[in-house]
Amino acid sequence: MNKSNCLVIGAGLLGRTLTLALAHQGHRVSLFEATQSDIPNAAAPVAAAMLAPLAESAITELNVVRMGQYSLERWPSLLQLLPQTVFFQRQGTLIVWHPADAGEAQRLSSLLQRNQALLPSLPAPQSLTGSDIGVLEPSLANRFERGLYLPQEGQLDNRELLSAQEAGLYNFQSQGHVQVHWQSPQNPEALYAQVCSGDMKPAHFWPDAPTWVIDCRGIGAKKEWTRVRGVRGEVVRVHAPEVSLSRPTRLIHPRYPIYIAPKENGVFVIGATEIESEDLSPSSVRSTLELLSAAYSVHPGFAEARVLEMNTQLRPTLPDNLPAIEVTQPHFMRINGLYRHGFMITPLVVDCALEWIQTQHTSLAQQVGLHISVNS
Ligand SMILES: Cc1cc2nc3c(=O)[nH]c(=O)nc-3n(C[C@H](O)[C@H](O)[C@H](O)COP(=O)(O)OP(=O)(O)OC[C@H]3O[C@@H](n4cnc5c(N)ncnc54)[C@H](O)[C@@H]3O)c2cc1C
Repeated sequence: MNKSNCLVIGAGLLGRTLTLALAHQGHRVSLFEATQSDIPNAAAPVAAAMLAPLAESAITELNVVRMGQYSLERWPSLLQLLPQTVFFQRQGTLIVWHPADAGEAQRLSSLLQRNQALLPSLPAPQSLTGSDIGVLEPSLANRFERGLYLPQEGQLDNRELLSAQEAGLYNFQSQGHVQVHWQSPQNPEALYAQVCSGDMKPAHFWPDAPTWVIDCRGIGAKKEWTRVRGVRGEVVRVHAPEVSLSRPTRLIHPRYPIYIAPKENGVFVIGATEIESEDLSPSSVRSTLELLSAAYSVHPGFAEARVLEMNTQLRPTLPDNLPAIEVTQPHFMRINGLYRHGFMITPLVVDCALEWIQTQHTSLAQQVGLHISVNS
C-alpha cells in the first residue's frame, strides 16, 4: 500500500480518530487544533456519547442507522488500540414514559418496529411491563407501567475516549509518525496552497509521498463550507450517588427526546435540548428546568444530585442532517455533518475516508449509503 502524508485540521472526535487510524496504517500525520488539548470549543467533550442506532432511527435516516450498526461493532477494536481504558458497554437502551405520553409512546414503538423490520440485523425492540422494567433497572421498580428495551445498544465515556486518544497520539509522536500542534488554528485551503507550492513539508513526512489535507473542523469549517450549521444542544452533568442506572434511559417527552446517560462513579449526563440556533450562551433556565425535572420524574434520587456542569455546544450539521465526505480537489478532503451522531458513526466515517485515501474506492460508503462526492 502506498503511504501518504496527511495534514489533519481539527482535533475533535473526528480529527483524533482519523489521525490515529492513519498512523496505524503507516501514514505520517500532522494534526492541528485551534485550542488546547481539552478542546473547550468542540462538541465532543460535551456529548452523552450514546451509541443507539435503533433509538435514533426515530429521527434519522436508515443509512445513518446502518452507519451506527457498523460503528458499534467497530468501536471495541479501535478502543483496544488505545493506551488507556475507555468505558464502553452494550447494555441496551431503556425507554420509559409517564401515562400522559402513552400516545406518543405507541407512535414511537410502531416506528421502531417498522425500522427494525426494514433492517432485520438490528435486534428487535422489546415491550416491557412495569415488573420487567424493575428486573432490568431495579431502582426504577414500580415507577413506570410500560417501557421499551432496545437490546445491545451502546455507550462510551467520551472524555475518557478523548484523553486516551490524546495519549495514543503522543505515542505515535514519540515514534516520529505524528506531530500534534495545539493552539494552532489553520485554514485548510491556505494549507493546501502551501502544500501545492511545496512550502509545507514537515520533517517527519515521507519524502516522495502525496500529501493530503483533511478538514475535520466541525462547526469551525462554517466560514468556508457555508452549508454547515450549528444545532444548539444543552446538557447537565450531575453527580447522583443515590441513583443507580446501568444503561442510558430515555424519557418520552413532548418536546425533546430526553435521556439520562450514566457515566462511571455516579455521574450522569442529562440531555439534550435540540434548538435550531447557533447561540452559544449558557443554558436557559427553561431548558435546565425541563432537563432536571424530567430526570427527577424518572428517579427521585436526582433531587439530591449535585450539578457538576451545565454545558452548551453546537452539533456540526449539514442541511440534510447527514454526514458527508467531499474531495473537492486532488488530495483535499473535508468531512462534516456528524450532527448528533458523531460517536455513533465516527468509526464508519473514518473507515470510508481511509478507503478513499488508500484506494480511491468507495465500496464501504456505498454499502451503508454515506455520501462521498469527488470533484474530478
Ligand atoms: C449536547 C450534545 C450531545 C451529544 N450527544 C451525542 C450522543 O449521545 N451520541 C453521539 O453519537 N453524538 C452526540 N453528539 C454529537 C457529537 O458530539 C458530534 O457529532 C461530534 O463531536 C462531531 O465531531 P467533529 O470532530 O466533527 O467536531 P468537534 O468534536 O466539534 O471537533 C471539531 C474540532 O475542530 C477544531 N477547530 C475548529 N476550527 C479549527 C481551525 N481553524 N483549526 C484547527 N482546529 C479547528 C475545534 O476546536 C474542535 O476541537 C452530541 C453533541 C452535543 C452538542
